[in-house]
Amino acid sequence: MKRPELLCPAGDFEKMRTAIHYGADAVYLGDPRFSLRNKARNFDAEELATAVQYAHERGVKVYVTANIFAHNSDLPAITDHIRILKDIRPDGVIISDPGVFMLFREKASEIDIHVSTQANITNSESARFWEKMGAKRLILSRELSIDEIRKIAETVEIELETFVHGSVCLSYSGKCYLSSFLASRSANAGECTNSCRWKYALVEEKRPGEYLPVFEDDRGAYVMNSKDLCLIEHLPFLSRAGIDSFKIEGRMKGIHYVAGVTRVYREAVDLIGNENLYQSRLPAWQKELSLFGKRGYTTGLLFGYNKDEICNVTGVNYAPESELAGVVLDTKGQFARVLLRIKISVGDSLEYLIPGLVDKVIAVDTLRYEDGIEAVSALAGETVLIKAPEGPSKGDLIRKICKA
Ligand code: SF4
Repeated sequence: MKRPELLCPAGDFEKMRTAIHYGADAVYLGDPRFSLRNKARNFDAEELATAVQYAHERGVKVYVTANIFAHNSDLPAITDHIRILKDIRPDGVIISDPGVFMLFREKASEIDIHVSTQANITNSESARFWEKMGAKRLILSRELSIDEIRKIAETVEIELETFVHGSVCLSYSGKCYLSSFLASRSANAGECTNSCRWKYALVEEKRPGEYLPVFEDDRGAYVMNSKDLCLIEHLPFLSRAGIDSFKIEGRMKGIHYVAGVTRVYREAVDLIGNENLYQSRLPAWQKELSLFGKRGYTTGLLFGYNKDEICNVTGVNYAPESELAGVVLDTKGQFARVLLRIKISVGDSLEYLIPGLVDKVIAVDTLRYEDGIEAVSALAGETVLIKAPEGPSKGDLIRKICKA
């Protein structure tokens, strides 16, 4: 069986480096002007070129998002972008808009096109349509069941990609005006504020400031509080159904998320085909992923619609058990040189996130600045030497275990 690709989010250069460090086969990123995640920092033309070179030197593919729904006024800039991408030579572009698709086919036929999940491919005929148009890959709609995925895979010969982890949209993959309406930030332009997950109450016009609770049933109101997608249990199943690429959502999320989720899915993808080992590792993967799914996890619509399974019915947000403490710049003898993200102190428990999910937990017994001066604690932004007898290497993240 062909091993599926692990495709990870790269909202900026540091996130890309982190995804690659923890085992991504491919990353997706975009120019802010043409990408549906324009608050995710993203890459301008020069940074795109550097990013593609960095990834290719490490054998990692890069797919560039250009999945806006373009207006006529966007077309000159898109044409210019196509010219730039011809030089940069990414491994594919991600497109939703048929007009943008056609422009790429006409002006840069050598660049592979992946049809975005925003194009909502929900049936075999749509899949066949895009295959006929010359798409290299289809990123399937998140609204499909496993049987529908299987049928599409039987119909087309081009590659199929699907999301396996991350936030899901309560609406039809971003086709929603809630965030535009309430926060003047359009989901269709990649600026969603996740307004569907805000806490709502009812206010009567004549009694401002008096909030009346809204109950859907005796568990509260939860219809808009979607859990996050997690298909870690089902990768072998999806692979057998015909999926070629497993995509992780989260270009807006931080490097802790990128590292933690990537290394779990890396190990899982590598164990597809070894059912016993896969099952034995599942609890460890789920434990690690539980750190990043504060709304709880769901399998989405893969096995049909179940309101209680999809929504967080309790409204409980799980507290994080650890937080990103820093990044290892390099190691010197028994010490790791670490750029801190938060304050740490002697006595804190730190965990080194080593690719491969074998973590080392250490209690900080000494903290030392590079000039040798010892400290009781050090602050975010400072570089310190921390004793790390074995294990960490350049690029590893360190996290602090939060006390209960
Ligand atoms: S507000 Fe919620 S439902 Fe609407 S686009 Fe954003 S995540 Fe999706």
